[in-house]
Amino acid sequence: MNLSMILEMAASTGERAVATVGNRTLTAAGLDALARRAAAQFRNHPAVLYLGSNHLAYPVALFGSALAGVPFVPLNYRLGEQQLGALKAKHPGALVLEQEDLDALVDDSYATGDPEPPLEPQWDGDTVAAIIYTSGTTSDPKPAILRHRHLLAYVLNTMEFGSAAETDASLVSVPPYHIAGLTNLLSNFYTGRRVVYLPAFDPQVWLETVRRERVTHAMLVPTMLARIVTALGDDTADAPTLASLAYGGSRTPRPVLEHALRAFPDTGFVNAYGLTETASSVAVLGPDDHRTAFDSTDPAVRDRLGSVGRPLPGIEIEIRSEEGEPVPAGETGLIFVRGEQISGEYGNRSVLDAEGWFSTRDLGRLDTDGYLYVEGRSDDTIIRGGENIAPAEIEDVLLAHPGITEAAVIGVSDTEWGQRIVAVLVGDGDPDEIRQWVKERLRSSKTPDNIVFRDELPKTETGKLLRRTLLAELEATHA
Ligand code: ATP
Repeated sequence: MNLSMILEMAASTGERAVATVGNRTLTAAGLDALARRAAAQFRNHPAVLYLGSNHLAYPVALFGSALAGVPFVPLNYRLGEQQLGALKAKHPGALVLEQEDLDALVDDSYATGDPEPPLEPQWDGDTVAAIIYTSGTTSDPKPAILRHRHLLAYVLNTMEFGSAAETDASLVSVPPYHIAGLTNLLSNFYTGRRVVYLPAFDPQVWLETVRRERVTHAMLVPTMLARIVTALGDDTADAPTLASLAYGGSRTPRPVLEHALRAFPDTGFVNAYGLTETASSVAVLGPDDHRTAFDSTDPAVRDRLGSVGRPLPGIEIEIRSEEGEPVPAGETGLIFVRGEQISGEYGNRSVLDAEGWFSTRDLGRLDTDGYLYVEGRSDDTIIRGGENIAPAEIEDVLLAHPGITEAAVIGVSDTEWGQRIVAVLVGDGDPDEIRQWVKERLRSSKTPDNIVFRDELPKTETGKLLRRTLLAELEATHA
């Protein structure tokens, strides 16, 4: 089994539109012809590097690579020359598709003539389908190896959310080099939804596109959701309604989520938690759970808005102590996952243990109903005076303060405490009053030692906080 199966399913629907960017649309038959042409061009290369934005060429290059049995490697084309050069150098002999090459891949005249004869199969489930670099928020980006079987397992595991009407359209605004861009495309094609791409994210354009293209499903990262609800403000009377609005990739501040649930009262929200190495989502909080929690006045039920839901079918989740022992429900530990879609491979190194478990290096807990709560990366844990402190807990309290819109809590080396707690905030307020706010809600050992205000926080394009960058800045300025 491999990804060409998804192309075949899509291709059987002939003149149906499968992808739209701006005013250009690709039909199923067109995609099939173009992908076969591309495959003939790709097959003599060890990999295909895609250095472009969201474009109709994206599915063509992805399925062209799948047909040719060649790894598809989407890279962040906005990276600096040096970083991009270093990534390109890791793939000698690869075919490099730059932004200016993309139009040719979807050129109609290129698709005319006799269809390419079917290629001799050169792959099986074990063939590498894609190499996706992790976001690099805790260390340098790592090349996650995703084989055809991992990606297909993801598509099958998400089938539960897959029913699609012929008129369904799914708006994808995450960049093509992010794992969610790739897996979203696959499950949309599998279920028969048309994919609508935004080449660059803008909240007004997103809202206009949802209305114009009659979008029924969408996928976002939390910073995009925050910008959409800010753009809507209190004027939510004509906010569109979607069957599903999925968000994930990093923590969503509770005020943003609650604002979004108010702004889109009839939309089904989905929080998706996953990593590049797990072929994206492994746990999902679905629409019913969102609404039940949001409508409840019971704080315990309402807390579920902070959960990433339950494991997908085919996925097991276990919480383990530092010693590697499973911990009971309610206790925090390291999140381990297991299942067919988990790759856990970088280059030729696998980090799965003997039983196939993968350590996410995220901290979290499961409640007695099996809902997962992610409490941040273990690498970000602050150790102050011997006490382990999760920045996320303090950040949540800070974000509940009316004057604060963004918060990052960082551990900075300290001769007395080992590490001290520095809160970097966007917004305004009196530092002493903010410290008091935290002290009243947590305890003194979790009260920030220093508070620093910034106009903005350093983030990746997908809105992930770059704590490493912030720490380097704080250390350089002795904040
Ligand atoms: P690197 O591994 O290079 O440091 P990264 O971990 O940021 O980068 P990704 O694979 O893009 O790379 O991100 C996965 C991480 O994102 C998860 O381990 C988790 O910390 C966070 N994450 C993903 N989805 C969610 C979510 N829905 N809620 C909270 N956190 C999430």
